[in-house]
Amino acid sequence: MILKKTPLLLIAFAAVSALGALAYGLADPQATLLGPALVSAGAGKRVALTFDDGPSEYTAGVLDVLKARGVHATFFVCGENAERRPDLVRRIRAEGHELGNHTWSHPYLHLKSKQAIAGEIDRTQDAVERISGVRPTLFRPPFGVRWFGLWDLLRERGMTMALWSIRPYDGRYKAPEIEKATLSALAPGAIILLHDGFETHLPAETDRSEMLRALPAIIDGVRHAGYDFGELR
Ligand SMILES: [Zn+2]
Repeated sequence: MILKKTPLLLIAFAAVSALGALAYGLADPQATLLGPALVSAGAGKRVALTFDDGPSEYTAGVLDVLKARGVHATFFVCGENAERRPDLVRRIRAEGHELGNHTWSHPYLHLKSKQAIAGEIDRTQDAVERISGVRPTLFRPPFGVRWFGLWDLLRERGMTMALWSIRPYDGRYKAPEIEKATLSALAPGAIILLHDGFETHLPAETDRSEMLRALPAIIDGVRHAGYDFGELR
């Protein structure tokens, strides 16, 4: 009885392990198991600041803080938001920040066809280039979710997948918690994920005021800990 069951148990164990590895490779923000991704801003006491889901009505405030403190960041914009606020896209570029691609409509990419994923990427590439004159080379998938075909599409376009290492859940907590969660996780090469928008939601549904309140203290805290801000590329 046991002898008969053993192969089945082994097969079941192998299947569960393979599924676990697959889920890790497709969703963990530090995983490069299934394809290349930027998961660190490099060696040394340097960190990168990144903002997703903009531009929104909070982006100007973020840019003001960055300018006042002389920090450059990467903004992973959604194409739909970029078209709504082209002036902010141009300001991001004019003030020396990097523009990245965060899809057109912020969907989960899993179970999507390669063609649908290509559409999300290219429509955003075209919009950002038309507005700012620059075609992004960095791509960050919504929710960090990757799917089959994505790596090929990025390679064909000469783009790099950029993930993150510190996520203080800035849409969920108050400013002191966002600051503490970020600063307590600092490490060489850390990529900090903040949000200057909320997917492609409209202004009334977007509240990033706690992140904006935390931002000056995060920048000052990073420097106080002996770190510098580097670019994500
Ligand atoms: Zn996002």
